[in-house]
Parts: sequence; C-alpha cells; structure tokens
Amino acid sequence: MITQVPALCSPIKINLAKSAGFCFGVQRALDIAFKLANSGKTVYMLGDIVHNEDVVKQIENAGIKKIKQTRRSKAILFNPEADSRKISEKLVPSNNKTLLIRAHGAGLAIIKKARGLDYKIIDATCPMVKEIHRIVRHMDKKGYQIIVIGDKKHDEVQGIIGQVNQNHQTKTILFDPDLSKARKSLVKTITAVKKACVVVQSTQELGKVLEIIKILKTHIADLKFFNTICKPTRIKQEEIKKMPLENDIMLIIGSKNSANTKRLYEISKSKNKKSYWINSKTEIRQDWFKNAKNVGIHAGASTPKTTIKEVIEKIRHLIKRKDA
Ligand code: SF4
Repeated sequence: MITQVPALCSPIKINLAKSAGFCFGVQRALDIAFKLANSGKTVYMLGDIVHNEDVVKQIENAGIKKIKQTRRSKAILFNPEADSRKISEKLVPSNNKTLLIRAHGAGLAIIKKARGLDYKIIDATCPMVKEIHRIVRHMDKKGYQIIVIGDKKHDEVQGIIGQVNQNHQTKTILFDPDLSKARKSLVKTITAVKKACVVVQSTQELGKVLEIIKILKTHIADLKFFNTICKPTRIKQEEIKKMPLENDIMLIIGSKNSANTKRLYEISKSKNKKSYWINSKTEIRQDWFKNAKNVGIHAGASTPKTTIKEVIEKIRHLIKRKDA
C-alpha cells in the first residue's frame, strides 16, 4: 500500500501512501471541466470545483467562471465608446450557457432552476455520490425517514439533502458526527421515527458513524443503514490508521478547508503526536525531522500530484542539508 520514495543518500526514508492525492471522482470532475473549458462554451460553476486553492485557480485560469447562483441573463447596456472586445465578452447567448455540476453533486432544485434559466447542465457528480442520491430518492418514495450523517455545511451533504422535497412533513434529519452536541440531541430528534434510511457523506470516518448507528438502532425499529463511505476514502483511511505507527513523523498534505484532509490529519494525530497538516511545501519545518528515521506522507482527495511532489523535493532538500 505504501510507495517508498528514495531520499537520496540520507538514512531517512520517505514513505508515500499509495492513495495520496486525487481520488477517482475528483480526477474525473477535473477532466470533464478542462475538456469543457476548451470547448469554447461559456461555462459556470456554483462554488469551487474542489477544496484546494491551486486547483481552483487552474480551473478559473482555464476560463470557467465561479458564480454564487444561477441567474437570468441581464439586459446588456452598450456604450458606443467601449472597446469591442469587452462588448463581445458580454454577449453570451442564453443557449450557450453551461453549468458544470461539481464532483460533490447538487440538489434537484438547483438543477431545475438552472434548466429553467436556459443553462445546459454538464454533470460531473462523482458516480459514488450519485449512488447516494439514488438511494435517498428511492427510500424517500418508500416512505422512509431520511437521515444523513455528515457535515451540514459541506456541499455534498447539501446535495444529498436536496434530493428529496424538504417541504414534506418529514424533513431530512442531519447528524454531524464531529459535533458532540449533535449526539446529545440525537435521541430527542428521532423519538417519533418508526422507519428510517441512513446514508453517510462519502468522506466520513466509519468509526464515528457506527457509534451513531448504534444509538439509532436502539430507537428505530426499521432502520436501513447504507454505508455510503466511498472506496477511495476507505482505502485512504485504512492507510492512515497504519502509517503513523510505522513512521516517526507524518505529513498530511491538503487545503485547510478540505474536510477529508482534516479527517486524515485527525486520525494520524490520534496515533502519532508528530503529525503535521500542511497545505504546501512552504509550511515544512526542518526541526520536525530531528532524530527521525522515516517520514510518512499522505494527502487529501483534492491535493494535486504537483503539490505532493514539491513536498517530497523539499524534504529531500532539508534532509540533505541536515546530513551535510
Ligand atoms: S471522495 Fe469519494 S465520493 Fe467524493 S469525489 Fe472522491 S471518490 Fe467520489
């Protein structure tokens, strides 16, 4: 599972997790986005494509425009004095507007609204997130109360909740396993629930989820639990449970707003105090490597290969200086 990266002539070994970096769903969404950007269409995206500043910049540089919400095309005021290039930039025919749905997916109402405003939809939702959507819609139709275990503010969770009509009498129930108060209020929220379907945000940690399932099982007679933590997340988490025990120090690479990187870091830290969460090579400190014989590296699902490579190069450089 681990790739050993030669650390030149230094005795310190660098061990890179095999699953470090982009997951299949993120890579797929980026491939779709770049292909679309080269198609000459005007492409919009609701929010950031992934939680990584470098990738977001690349996407914007490729010409995809980030918007907060879909809008009807505004009337355009032409100033005869303005330069003609600026005028043509504003001339986006309504039938040439494309909305790219990110790997995290989106709720049905958002897609319906965009279609109503003449956006063509290109759906880059990860197939594993799509499967969660399918389960939720199917079980809602069968009359099951939908319970989502995940981070309320995360786009993926909002997209899952948005699969069913929230004007129902029974609104989707959401539990955030990171909030202890959510666990306390858990029992209160489910007292009247007789049958429920539970799905999980794809990047959650199974241990925390199972604790919640245990509580739910004692209160809900007909409970259907779908473990929708995706395979790439499971592989990453399996690796991060072992690596901190086999390496003197651990570096976890990923943006500070990436939830799955945060989880990798938390697991690592709980097993090895010398775990450090960095966004880029600039945050690495030489004193971390004092007396270390090996360093483990892992990276979140939205961390590009280039960032991982830069971190490895920087470590090699620091190790060389240390040995000199
Ligand atoms: S983390 Fe999993 S569900 Fe999310 S985009 Fe990657 S593969 Fe898909």
